[in-house]
Formats: sequence, C-alpha cells, structure tokens
Amino acid sequence: MEGRSFNVKVAEKLQDIQSQIQAACQKAGRQPDEVKIIAVTKYVSVERAQEALEAGLIHLGENRDEGLLEKWDKLTGEPVWHFIGSLQSRKVKNIIDKVSYIHSLDRLSLANEIDKRAGKPINCFVQVNVSGEESKHGLSPEEVVSFVEQLAKYEKIVICGLMTMAPLTDNEDLLRSCFKQLKQLQKEVQSKRLPHAPCTELSMGMSNDYQIAIEEGATMVRIGTALVGE
Ligand SMILES: *Cc1c(COP(=O)(O)O)cnc(C)c1O
Repeated sequence: MEGRSFNVKVAEKLQDIQSQIQAACQKAGRQPDEVKIIAVTKYVSVERAQEALEAGLIHLGENRDEGLLEKWDKLTGEPVWHFIGSLQSRKVKNIIDKVSYIHSLDRLSLANEIDKRAGKPINCFVQVNVSGEESKHGLSPEEVVSFVEQLAKYEKIVICGLMTMAPLTDNEDLLRSCFKQLKQLQKEVQSKRLPHAPCTELSMGMSNDYQIAIEEGATMVRIGTALVGE
C-alpha cells in the first residue's frame, strides 16, 4: 500500500535535489561537495531505503531504534547510519554500535550513557532549540557553550557539530535567522578550541528548507519527504 510519491524513483528525486543544492551553493559561494545529504528513511520501507542506497546515497537517517535496527538488519550495502531523533538513554545500547553519528545530544545523562556504552569514540551533534518552540527538543542557545565544555570528560564523545530543527513555516526570514544563529553558535564553540569539540559540521535543513540552510552554512541536510517519500 505505497503512496503516490513512491512512483517517482529516488534517483530522479535525488537529481532534482542535487541541482537545488548546486544552486544554493552557487548563491552562497560554496562547493556542493561541502554538503552531505542524509536520506531520512524513517517513513519508508526497507525496499525504498534499499533503492536510496542503489541511487548512490550513503548516509541514512532514522529517528527510532526499531526502524534503524530493522533496516540495519535487512539492507544490503554499507550505509553510514545517523540517529536523528530524540534518544532515550535506555535505548542507547540498542543503536550505539550501529551508528556513526548521533544528532540529538541534549543532556549530560545521555552523554554519560553514550560514553559508557560506546566501544569507540562517536561523533555527536549537540541539538539546539534555536526557535525556542515548546515542542522542540534541544538546548537553548545560551546553554550550548557551557554544555559542550562539560563534555570534555567523556572520552568517547566527539562533538562534530551542532544540529537544529527549524520551525515548520514558509517564512523565509524566520528560517534564515534560525540557521544563522546556529552558525553563529558554531563559531562560538570553535573559538574555544576544545580538543573534544572540533564542531566543523552543521546539521540543518529538511525537505522544506534545505536550500536556505545550505545558503546559511549547512554541511549535512536531513531529507526525508522530498527524497524518498513520506
Ligand atoms: C523526519 C526528520 C527529518 C526529515 O524530515 P522531512 O521533512 O521529511 O525531510 C529531518 N530531521 C529530523 C530530526 C527528523 O525527525
């Protein structure tokens, strides 16, 4: 019972998204290879995720442990897995040896659990609630620098970057201001020159707003609906 969007091949959608990325990069004076696409497969079947891999996508994202484990088990190929959803501490052990990136680090108790369970250092994004919406996870911008500083004691946590989810809106100015704030915070973290926090990445931009996110400095865009379907 697959929806209509499944009739369009992932490869076709990918081509369209790649040309949008190219245009956004050109506008911003950036190179397209500075931007990685994470195909968010949380809404779709194993078969559709397999199609994404075959279209050349390497980075896959899931927001629930069940979804990740099922696809991890059944897909052929070697995707790089990103955990993008809010993560309960008790679920860390289920996913920790299967993912390369966790995009949703937002509290010390979670850092503690990741550090305890990880077999090797793992790339984490600190999730920031830039827009301040009640419904969104993440630290408030003012908390970020001191939070990152407190992570120094965890040997297996590398802060590779910051992540945010912008509000669901068509208001371009609002979206842009969210992304700009995350970029600004990244600069603040980088200025501390913390060995455990190179913070070179910005995970921002989804189906509705990835072009704007790229213009504002995104290095990883997380695209579900527009790429593999909803
Ligand atoms: C679902 C999800 C996405 C992808 O959303 P689309 O709008 O379908 O592109 C990106 N990031 C996170 C954290 C998500 O949960």
